[in-house]
Amino acid sequence: MAKKDFTIFDLMARFPDEKSCIIYLSEQKWASGYCCIKCGSTKNKQGKKKDNKRCKTCGYEESPTSNTLFHKIKFPLQKAFYICYQLSVNKKGMSTLELSRQYGLSQKTCWFFKRKVQKAMVSSDAHPLEDVLEIDEFSIGSHEKEKPGRSDGKKKKVILGVEIVLNKKEKLTIGRAYSRVIDDYSTQSFKPFFEEKINAKSTIFTDLWSSYKPLSNKYDINQEKSNNGESMKLLHTHIMNMKGWLRGIHHHISTKHAQCYMDEYHFKFNRRLNLENCFDKLILGMTKNEWFSYKMASQTT
Ligand SMILES: [Zn+2]
Repeated sequence: MAKKDFTIFDLMARFPDEKSCIIYLSEQKWASGYCCIKCGSTKNKQGKKKDNKRCKTCGYEESPTSNTLFHKIKFPLQKAFYICYQLSVNKKGMSTLELSRQYGLSQKTCWFFKRKVQKAMVSSDAHPLEDVLEIDEFSIGSHEKEKPGRSDGKKKKVILGVEIVLNKKEKLTIGRAYSRVIDDYSTQSFKPFFEEKINAKSTIFTDLWSSYKPLSNKYDINQEKSNNGESMKLLHTHIMNMKGWLRGIHHHISTKHAQCYMDEYHFKFNRRLNLENCFDKLILGMTKNEWFSYKMASQTT
């Protein structure tokens, strides 16, 4: 598949004003039909405000933004769409400081909105990794010496899997990838990642770490010597790239939010060949996730 560009001019053409954003949100939010969140009725009429829908049964009125991550937004929706564009299409992402400067918003506002964007980027687990996979476990944190494999300390432990696929030129490359923060490197901690992110019919390659062994009851696990990262080169390059990205413009992030940042990274990575789809998927995700408060966002572990 050739890379499909989606430039800022394409975005400007699609969303020239506030109204076009509202209409698009409304289409996305009620794409699979209207259903009143208070009483479950599917009958509605236009609300007091033109773009709102009012339930014909209980009278509850809903705007295109209510009960979505755009709820109670304190700045124009068009601005929010442009931020969503930059966070979904820019490979490097954007720090809250940069967003604050470019959009004339406080850094706190940008930080909070970015957390919502990251929430919308969390995978639905509907498409687990499949076929030939490589999986590794490692730690992330600031000022870490780059080396594959496990290391201890006050860092976040992570498990990560990638699909190994053939590209058009018949060369091995990476398909999609997912990662998850884990408590430790035990089988018990690996399990949820396998259950949610891995198709059980896949052929899986890992290093010799003993915690993978018990999982071979259910999965086709092939363990091979890590050789200081020489084997499973594509996987280790992917891990290096992700760590570099986390360290780069995001060097101020707290490892407390590591999962959010890895979700952002893989949301973009897994859609790198179709940028317009990346933006649309993000807006859809924003309408499908429930609003949360600033306090709730700061407490996320
Ligand atoms: Zn109702």
